[in-house]
Amino acid sequence: RAKQSGRNQFMFFTKSLQEHAAELMETEQHLRNALELNQLSLHFQPLVRSRTGRVTGFEALLRWHHPTLGNIPPDKFIPVAEESGLIGSIGEWVLDTALMHAKNWHNQGQKLYISVNLSRRQLDLGMNDKKLSALLSKHQFDPSYLVLEITESLLLDNSDTTVIRLESIKDLGVHLAIDDFGTGYSSLSYLKRFPIDSLKIDKEFVRDLTSDSDDVELVTAIIAMARSLKLRLIAEGVETEEQRKILLRLGCEFLQGYYFAKPMPASEVQTWLTHYEPEYLSAHA
Ligand code: C2E
Ligand code: MG
Ligand code: MG
Ligand code: MG
Repeated sequence: RAKQSGRNQFMFFTKSLQEHAAELMETEQHLRNALELNQLSLHFQPLVRSRTGRVTGFEALLRWHHPTLGNIPPDKFIPVAEESGLIGSIGEWVLDTALMHAKNWHNQGQKLYISVNLSRRQLDLGMNDKKLSALLSKHQFDPSYLVLEITESLLLDNSDTTVIRLESIKDLGVHLAIDDFGTGYSSLSYLKRFPIDSLKIDKEFVRDLTSDSDDVELVTAIIAMARSLKLRLIAEGVETEEQRKILLRLGCEFLQGYYFAKPMPASEVQTWLTHYEPEYLSAHA
């Protein structure tokens, strides 16, 4: 009896794996045409100072709208883009487009940072200091206003080549941030070896900050560590005023999350900036 149900489970498992593989292939096929068909766009989410709420910059987040499949979330298609190598061309388009929008803001007198996510795979697919430098020149963009967000897993590959590649990118004058910090396995030594400027605390630790004292301890430890390494700290996934207050009290200088704004199309950024007025802005200004 047990054996039989075990076998059934196994069959069910293999079938779903096949289905999964077919789905991935279908996604990849669609993604191949997405750039040419103008199905990709960028949304922008503000980063603010925790004390005043003042906006310091925006993170560019990729969006894919397929005419029949609808909106496909990045967590679903970025891995496919990485696996297939499509992240090479897509990632370059993201940088190009993000710099174009940020340059527009600068031209309108708003010196805002632009954060762009960079996959580890992009480094192998030709995104290097030369290419980045060409993009920066194309838009006449001040490199000190560009932040590249890389995930912690990149630090695990602390081979000399990876370190050297990142250092030559960093030498252009851009900033490097570790994204989703705390979810990977990086240690102090990794952080010291890479030319990193800031850490983004993963939203997983922010979510239960008001109810879970363990998370408070964790964030306190991360902040202490970041301080001793002279790294800037950003917390992502801030959804409530309570979370803002705690993070401010713990010493986290920058915040990002739905509490301030959800990611929005570029066309809405100016209007949002004009109307954005956090309650605590005047109280602490
Ligand atoms: P990420 O870089 O860590 O971006 C933050 C994610 O958290 C975004 O999800 C954002 O919409 C979401 N978020 C922001 N505030 C809140 C909040 O208060 N609550 C909650 N629950 N979520 C919040 P999104 O846009 O779905 O992107 C998911 C991930 O996909 C990104 O995580 C990033 O790793 C990847 N990604 C997005 N765009 C790009 C891109 O252009 N290139 C690469 N390589 N990866 C990208
Ligand atoms: Mg990010
Ligand atoms: Mg993140
Ligand atoms: Mg993430």
